[in-house]
Amino acid sequence: MNPHVWLVGAGPGDPELITLKAVRVLARADVVLVDDLVNPALLEHCPQARILRVGKRGGCRSTPQAFIQRLLLRYARQGRCVVRLKGGDPCIFGRAGEEAAWLAQHGIACGIVNGITAGLAAASEFGIPLTLRGLARGVTLLTAHTEDGSQPDWPALVRSGTTLVLYMGVATLEQTRSRLLAGGLAADTPVAMVERASLPEQRAHLSSLGRMNEDARGFALRSPAILIIGAVAAYCGTQRTAARLAAN
Ligand code: SAH
Repeated sequence: MNPHVWLVGAGPGDPELITLKAVRVLARADVVLVDDLVNPALLEHCPQARILRVGKRGGCRSTPQAFIQRLLLRYARQGRCVVRLKGGDPCIFGRAGEEAAWLAQHGIACGIVNGITAGLAAASEFGIPLTLRGLARGVTLLTAHTEDGSQPDWPALVRSGTTLVLYMGVATLEQTRSRLLAGGLAADTPVAMVERASLPEQRAHLSSLGRMNEDARGFALRSPAILIIGAVAAYCGTQRTAARLAAN
């Protein structure tokens, strides 16, 4: 059965960083519910569709999740092809799980189309090899921002030897720093802060765990931003010019 609802990743911001499948699904959409981190330029792929903006930025006025889910269901039941267009990848801090489960409970089939998640784009835009052999055993995508205030197991993350890619971390930098230091991560561990990755105004700053609060203030770091914590972050910036030159 063709799904009536598609949860589609829009990528990190650069309108070229969307998949061909996402473009094909958008071209068939009757209704598109758009998150606010989605680049509006992508809506050129669905000129026929009704566009509903349902942004959910932290700290801002936002459309309640329950209301978004009811909209998805209402349009799907009308037999429309509904696309929920989300920044990055729908399954990475994107509520795809909740939405897919809720639709399934109501008997609506749902398809998911990957997008490039912001953490990966932040790394590649500034030349950070997240799993460089000898420096990182893997990569962990995480957030310190949870609804119930619960914290990740910071010492276990430190022991894992993986590069930490932190989402939604700007408001809780101090907490992150002190918990990682207490968990045994060295103060001189490199930290790359990447703001608005893949957009023309993207910026990055290379700091360290010990200095990252002061540096974030000096750099005026703003959301949306990604923090990349680990030895590989020291590569931040080294390949950026080369990558840009190659792309242009
Ligand atoms: N589903 C999204 C993440 C949504 S959570 C994805 O896969 O990318 C929102 C957080 O994503 C922001 O607080 C920020 O940490 C990060 N983010 C999204 N777009 C970003 C961008 N262009 N540059 C840096 N961080 C970004």
